[in-house]
Amino acid sequence: MIDTHSRREALSVVSAWHENDLSREPNTTNPLQQFGRDVFSERVMRERLPKDVFKLLVRTIRLGEELDHSIADTVANAMKDWAIENGATHYTHWFHPLTGTTAEKHDSFLTPDGLGGAIMEFSGSALVQGEPDASSFPSGGIRGTFEARGYTAWDPTSPVFLNRSGNTVTLCIPTAFVSYTGEALDQKTPLLRSMDAVSEQAIRILKVFGTAQGVSRVFSTCGPEQEYFLIDRRYYLARPDLLLCGRTLFGAKAAKDQQLEDHYFGSIPERVQAYMAECERELYALGVPVKTRHNEVSPAQYEIAPIFESANIAADHQQLVMQVLRKNAPKFGMQCLMHEKPFAGINGSGKHNNWSLATDTGVNLLDPKDDTHTNMQFLVVLCAVIRAVDIHADLLRAAVASAANDHRLGANEAPPAIISIFLGDMLQDIVDQLETGATKSTIKGRKLDLGANTLPDLPLHTSDRNRTSPFAFTGNKFEFRAVGSSQSIALANIVLNTIVAESLDAIAGELEKHAGNEAKLKSAVAKLLQDIIKKHKRVIFNGDGYTKEWHEQAEKRGLPNFRNTVDALPALKSKKAVDLFKKYGVFSKVETESRYHVYVEQYIKQVTIEANTAVQMAKTAILPAAIRQQTELAEAVSATQAADVDCSELREHLEEFVASVAELRSAIRGLEDKLDHHDANHEKHAKHLRDEVLPAMLEVREVADNLERHIAEDIWPLATYREMLFIK
Ligand code: ADP
Ligand code: MG
Repeated sequence: MIDTHSRREALSVVSAWHENDLSREPNTTNPLQQFGRDVFSERVMRERLPKDVFKLLVRTIRLGEELDHSIADTVANAMKDWAIENGATHYTHWFHPLTGTTAEKHDSFLTPDGLGGAIMEFSGSALVQGEPDASSFPSGGIRGTFEARGYTAWDPTSPVFLNRSGNTVTLCIPTAFVSYTGEALDQKTPLLRSMDAVSEQAIRILKVFGTAQGVSRVFSTCGPEQEYFLIDRRYYLARPDLLLCGRTLFGAKAAKDQQLEDHYFGSIPERVQAYMAECERELYALGVPVKTRHNEVSPAQYEIAPIFESANIAADHQQLVMQVLRKNAPKFGMQCLMHEKPFAGINGSGKHNNWSLATDTGVNLLDPKDDTHTNMQFLVVLCAVIRAVDIHADLLRAAVASAANDHRLGANEAPPAIISIFLGDMLQDIVDQLETGATKSTIKGRKLDLGANTLPDLPLHTSDRNRTSPFAFTGNKFEFRAVGSSQSIALANIVLNTIVAESLDAIAGELEKHAGNEAKLKSAVAKLLQDIIKKHKRVIFNGDGYTKEWHEQAEKRGLPNFRNTVDALPALKSKKAVDLFKKYGVFSKVETESRYHVYVEQYIKQVTIEANTAVQMAKTAILPAAIRQQTELAEAVSATQAADVDCSELREHLEEFVASVAELRSAIRGLEDKLDHHDANHEKHAKHLRDEVLPAMLEVREVADNLERHIAEDIWPLATYREMLFIK
């Protein structure tokens, strides 16, 4: 707990940090010149591998072709030499279990030579396959621990890298994680499968339009923008809720938070800037192309965004971004909070998942180009996305469901839980034309005259931005904004790839009949897109997604609105979803259902941990503080009385205070009662937590936050919102 002493100490540490650490000599090498230093990149491979081996490996990497096992030993050996020269002692198969983060188990290169010494070895088979006894990862019932064989398999399409941590260097090999029976236990396997699926269907569309020449693969591309909070680490360590749950379960609003909008894009505080630079330095070395950094809306909130990459690599890199952000903050006396809603009453954090499709020859299939109305291929892909999002809005919602994200989606600061598409004026106009059967024109961008002679005219985008839409077209990509800040982006992209693959498949099926006959193809496209728009335009909404009117309107349109995880998750195991994933080879029925179980279980665990933490804090920190305050007040009353001074006012204050303390005790008891409930049926248990436990937690919080407003600063035991959000 934090007392006045450590409060003062915290301040002195912060200022000492500013005085001493910021004056450190700047590092003289430009970190940009170190880009990719710790990556076993194609450049390194070319230098270190025999030509024929290099060629075979690059085919696998670029074209996603199966790896030729005969080259594995040679590749492994080169990798080992490179790693050892760079100080590595260990290697690890790095994978993405269903916990949402990454996992690793390190083995050293050491092999005793039988003569009292050792040689360093790394075989092709150790590179290609691993068998961690990773029996404790969630599998949703796929594996019992008694038969817990799980395998990791090298994913050559994502670069091998060196992880430098503390005084160690480890060779990290991105891998897929599957069970003995071949089911995926991770995020990477289905992501790769979904990328194959969408590639195959997209190429069919290119063939229809005669643009497939030289294209071997269509990649889904992804650029995730990561929001996060940074607070002084002392406050973090002194708050059990932050430590155990990643968010504050208590805390009265500070007098000031984001009202003045003075933090957003403001100048970055110096300590934060130093931290960001350190993170970027490390990410550059890891080959993660981070590009943008800025202050976000909430005080103490920031954002980092990379340049987009192929979805698989983006998902790996996004994990590295989170890891590096978390790891470096303590070096600067800070803690990085990745939770979707660390502080009540101010904006939470999301991860805008920018998504598109691009050929391996560099053509972005969602680039509308100048005369968009003539760009049939673009319009087909656009309509495929519209169709996909309308049919599978429920799946997209399920892909971002978590106990933490529930605090964000639906509150008026993040996109609503209703999945709709924002197109903007230019595309909306074309879609309207499509609906009538023929497209004739494209609205052109205007120039904005700024009125001052010295300022240039600005070319305007043809549509404004819309911050309230969960799924917005932003120029040449879609931006799925409902993903939570702490989530892996994998599932969101798995769903996107698969649902778009299905739509492209359906469209290709219609159009292939007319390929080669331009006139017929043109009219078939017009007819098909007209049908699609008629059927699916209900999902398009260009207005303000935060308004009550939209919620009513969306209901009339029949759009699903799953307000919380418990309601959202069943979409994952619906027949529609199971059939979809099976058809495109992304998830088997068992895999789909196992994921559903894992996510429900995670919800149960998360909410239960939070509720238990709330009870404990209320009983061992807040209630005792309140009693101390009560004692002081009571003593003041009796001292005043003893001095023979009228103290009716003070007595009233005491009485009111005592009543609040009683309220707190009863709210705690209420929460404990609700928590004392077990249901073997997970779905029922999750519902109980949502309907009974979470509201009971809120009740305790309300009383406690009210007490915070009345308890002396030197008695109040928790770091306050003011301190956490404003001391930088
Ligand atoms: P915003 O202005 O929306 O905050 P930023 O420019 O900060 O956007 O980030 C947009 C993100 O979208 C970046 O990560 C960028 O690389 C990514 N992006 C741009 N083009 C594409 C594309 N074709 N596919 C996927 N992501 C893209
Ligand atoms: Mg954005």
